[in-house]
Amino acid sequence: MELTSAIQQKILRIKDHVQEFRNEGRTFFASSSFQTHSLPMLHVLSRIAPEMPVYFIQTGFHFPETLKFRDHIAATFRLNVVNVESHVPKVQQRDAKGKFFFTSDPDYCCFLNKTQPMQPLLERFDVWVNGVRADQNANRKALQEFEHTPQGGSRYHPMLDWSKQEIWQYISALELPRHPLDAEGYVSIGCEPCTVKPSIGDERGGRWLGQSKNECGLHTELVSK
Ligand code: SF4
Repeated sequence: MELTSAIQQKILRIKDHVQEFRNEGRTFFASSSFQTHSLPMLHVLSRIAPEMPVYFIQTGFHFPETLKFRDHIAATFRLNVVNVESHVPKVQQRDAKGKFFFTSDPDYCCFLNKTQPMQPLLERFDVWVNGVRADQNANRKALQEFEHTPQGGSRYHPMLDWSKQEIWQYISALELPRHPLDAEGYVSIGCEPCTVKPSIGDERGGRWLGQSKNECGLHTELVSK
């Protein structure tokens, strides 16, 4: 299957932006949660900026399948994957009842394990490349291709205008691998305690089920409006 001209144009645009970063001497990195729908961005970046570090936020609560998939993709795409994790040990991540914060205060758990570990990277690099898409939820729809971070750097969202259909066209056309939990009915795969199989087709419907929470903070707290 051939890539559509619309997808090809979008890839060229990413290439141009990355070249601009280089020309301007700006340092950049990507982050990824290593789900199947993360792969088009990672595949494009592996071809145009193989030196780019790709950070994986190791919360300690991922499915083992995700860690294996991360390693498989890193080897297959020859990515420079780097893990980043909270400096707060898990023994200090329990509430007064001795339960992990994800049971009683998931926002704080996400802060400790996702948002806070990213902050030093945002101070160190000029540009954070991440793969949010506008069609994933209302918060992401409100984002622009470029945003600022509270640390004074930039966020670049190369996939913002990619539709879900284009993501899957790219995956099919390039015959990219699939996260093993896709076949079990998972759609959006985050930490194991906060991910279920969605009963409807909503892409992020299986995250923090039954709670008003639908973002971990990376795309809310780390955007400076
Ligand atoms: S997704 Fe759940 S387990 Fe993962 S950091 Fe957030 S609250 Fe904690």
